[in-house]
Amino acid sequence: MEVLKVESLSKDYGRIKALKGVSFSVPEGVVFGVLGPNGSGKTTLLGIIVDILKPTSGSFSLFGEKPEARHRKKIGTLLETPNFYHYLTGEQNLLINASIKGRGSNDIDRVLKLVNLDTRRHSKFSTYSLGMKQRLAIAAAMLGNPDILLFDEPTNGLDPVGIAEIRSLIKELHQQGKTIIMASHLLDEVEKVCTHVAVLKKGDLIVHGNVDEIFSTNDMVELAATNKSTLVSVLNSLSGIVNVKEEENGIVIASFPKGTADLANINKHCFENGVVLNKLNLKRQSLESKFFELTN
Ligand code: ATP
Repeated sequence: MEVLKVESLSKDYGRIKALKGVSFSVPEGVVFGVLGPNGSGKTTLLGIIVDILKPTSGSFSLFGEKPEARHRKKIGTLLETPNFYHYLTGEQNLLINASIKGRGSNDIDRVLKLVNLDTRRHSKFSTYSLGMKQRLAIAAAMLGNPDILLFDEPTNGLDPVGIAEIRSLIKELHQQGKTIIMASHLLDEVEKVCTHVAVLKKGDLIVHGNVDEIFSTNDMVELAATNKSTLVSVLNSLSGIVNVKEEENGIVIASFPKGTADLANINKHCFENGVVLNKLNLKRQSLESKFFELTN
């Protein structure tokens, strides 16, 4: 089942086109990353889904139906740092949050355990580390056990330990069968925690789908030989090769479909065709270069 389906969604702020006809769908039970640089429209997209913003045109459905309040009850959100009271404890803050939302007042124990704050439940919010504050915010989003969680840049501003905690929490929620939709400008984060991704650039949806497929990285082989042009033509005659590219520093990069580069076979082919290699090295295309390829 699709928990969210977005169809030709556009949003203008005056002359600024924050979203330009974006369409994609989110299957149930995935961790869906909305990836893009600052200003690409991620927050606008999430704002429309939670009904804070009205789209200029286009539509979306939740659980296969026209969005209504009863659907939104099944969505827990963390869009910006919630306004917790500094002089109240974590638990007291959650109780207030539950009463404002009208859900989850009997769910405090569970969510505190989930985010690993049960031992600090009676400490004042002001004594929490940034990572703990963010975990409390996630606990608040989890109140009432919603099926979908919507997080905007959940690791923003955290130190490496805090980031790791939030990421493992997201993985745990995924294992529990929750659908998580999260905006991030960090490719690395999306690679580490998301199963699916939609890449936005200046309001346009560039690509979307399964992370493994989208970022499926070709095998890249670095080669060098005294006679570079002969090397290039010999490589081009090799079966299964996808692309041969000459780099400036005398290196030639040959791409093969993922998992198919056979160095011994490449070496043999070159030698039999009169090319003696003085460099032969397998390296995968970095995700980062793939991301730049997608967004630039
Ligand atoms: P960031 O990571 O910086 O929050 P984002 O990908 O979430 O970026 P949005 O915040 O959705 O992007 O912004 C998309 C575009 O819309 C940007 O050009 C932004 O300046 C503009 N924008 C967002 N909100 C408003 C607003 N209320 N009024 C005018 N322009 C806005």
